[in-house]
Amino acid sequence: MKITLLTGKTFDIEKEVSFPIEVVLSKRAKLLGLRIDAKKRVPVLTVPKYCSKKQAVNFVKAQEKWIEEHLQKLPTRKPFEEGEKISFNGCELELRHCQNLRAGVQIENGYLLVSGEKTFFARRVRDFIKEQAQKILYQMSIEKAAKLQCKVKRVIIKDTKSRWGSCSSLNNINYNWRIMLAPPLVIDYLTAHEVAHLKHQDHSPEFWKCVDELAKDAAYGRQWLKKNAESLNRYI
Ligand SMILES: [Zn+2]
Repeated sequence: MKITLLTGKTFDIEKEVSFPIEVVLSKRAKLLGLRIDAKKRVPVLTVPKYCSKKQAVNFVKAQEKWIEEHLQKLPTRKPFEEGEKISFNGCELELRHCQNLRAGVQIENGYLLVSGEKTFFARRVRDFIKEQAQKILYQMSIEKAAKLQCKVKRVIIKDTKSRWGSCSSLNNINYNWRIMLAPPLVIDYLTAHEVAHLKHQDHSPEFWKCVDELAKDAAYGRQWLKKNAESLNRYI
């Protein structure tokens, strides 16, 4: 990627540092900055108005180890695979392809049996989890809402990776289907969190008090999600 400096000189930073890097020229930045674009899996360099080629190149070179470490830490996106073990709503299940199974997908003796063409294996596992998520999370949500004397209009299962759930002013609750892969206490916390938003739209102390009343262990759930969000969100 080419950088044009204020002096009008242009140079190709990738040639200097020998790995892919994106550059953002910033009028407001005062210092050189570096971050990782997790989606594109590349480092992004912010170059301020007054900066020389030498400064930019030296800065990136000095951060090479940091870049490498952070790129390695990025979660790899992965589809469900045969033989893999997952936690589904608190049950440890091994995924198994079973071509001639009558029902599409079913749970049996610690296995999640998946019928049909192998090409569609991952998609069928995901669709099954989404379908179950709809039923299970709806039930958990209306039970918790009843305790607050509130009503849930709809529960919608989404594919958002940026958030685990949300609650609209129309009393619709959205959940990321991947929450079904978390331990039961975590699913319990997330439903408590979203249901508590039916009563409190903010994250005020009253809101958190309400979450604590609805959840079995809100602190555990919160921490677990913070720590493990990336590993659950790997699934596509
Ligand atoms: Zn919230």
